[in-house]
Amino acid sequence: MIVLGIETTCDETAAAVVATGEDGRGVIRAHEVLSQIAEHAAYGGVVPEIAARAHVEVLDRLIARALHEADLTLADLDGIAVAAGPGLIGGVLVGLVTAKTLALVARKPLLAVNHLEAHALTARMTDGVAFPYLLLLASGGHTQLVAVKGVGEYLRLGTTIDDAIGEAFDKVAKLLGLPYPGGPEVERAAESGDPERFSLPRPLLGRPEPNFSLSGLKTALRIEAERIAPLTGQDVADLCASFQAAVVDVVVDRVRVALRTFGTVAGHPTALVAAGGVAANGTLRRALAQLAGEAGLPLVAPPLPLCGDNGAMIAWAGIERLRLGLVDDLMAPARPRWPFADALPAAE
Ligand code: ATP
Ligand code: FE
Ligand code: MG
Repeated sequence: MIVLGIETTCDETAAAVVATGEDGRGVIRAHEVLSQIAEHAAYGGVVPEIAARAHVEVLDRLIARALHEADLTLADLDGIAVAAGPGLIGGVLVGLVTAKTLALVARKPLLAVNHLEAHALTARMTDGVAFPYLLLLASGGHTQLVAVKGVGEYLRLGTTIDDAIGEAFDKVAKLLGLPYPGGPEVERAAESGDPERFSLPRPLLGRPEPNFSLSGLKTALRIEAERIAPLTGQDVADLCASFQAAVVDVVVDRVRVALRTFGTVAGHPTALVAAGGVAANGTLRRALAQLAGEAGLPLVAPPLPLCGDNGAMIAWAGIERLRLGLVDDLMAPARPRWPFADALPAAE
């Protein structure tokens, strides 16, 4: 099975071709990503209208390049997958209309994929992880702990009650004068910083539901930064290291709680899976690997280029759906808001 995947929900324009391998995993035959970072950097964040226009300008060429790289034509494909949401409506429409057009012209099945579901299933493409597993999805817009029981069977164990983790990294970076996107910048600065210089709060630590709260942490950091301003390079490094240490402590604690909840609703997980752009963070990965080890589970985190937004994860989610006959018609709507996991049923 070979599927083209198209991703345009935020500020990456991406197209990839993925095939099923003999071991049930995915084989990435082409992987094209064009980041719009330069277009948005001056504004310190993604500007939706600029993003949509940038997708229009490059998407067709990117798809042609991916097909060329895979040495295929449209006729060779088994399906055309596209992220139909959640995300910025302008960008989603660009990807969706393009995918529908290709599906119509080449008479191929359309697979309208949920972008978050694609992040969630990436570990099956890269590592062949079996259901059920515990997913930590930490990205720019989302922070969720999810019991992944099967394709389309997602139970949300916890979520953030305010900012997403990636968003908190981005806001902290902005506050400290570091460029956008902030996550990698904060991580880099933290390398030469002292994580114990500032004692920042660990919100919700120890709470029995595996939820997150990040906005108080961000505010505490802002107060510290204002107290010692003007900031030297070392101050910035220490603030970044202290912030990152607090986030990692919180995530480890919340995942530990989620592992307990998982047992009561979904049985024994086969793995702890980390996904989304924040899963690229090395300090977080090491802490999660240790936690997983203590729980007797493997930690599966995608290789760095597959943590952030990409077309391969969309193509793979398309393959997973196509295998089950979950095909969409050309009326498939763009869904700027599209929750992918069901809430836990309330306890009796
Ligand atoms: P969503 O998937 O929720 O729609 P998104 O697609 O924008 O949001 P991703 O592209 O998956 O999110 O991830 C981007 C986020 O990951 C940004 O907030 C970025 O700062 C963060 N991020 C990237 N690298 C790192 C890192 N090394 N450490 C921490 N955060 C990081
Ligand atoms: Fe994403
Ligand atoms: Mg992104």
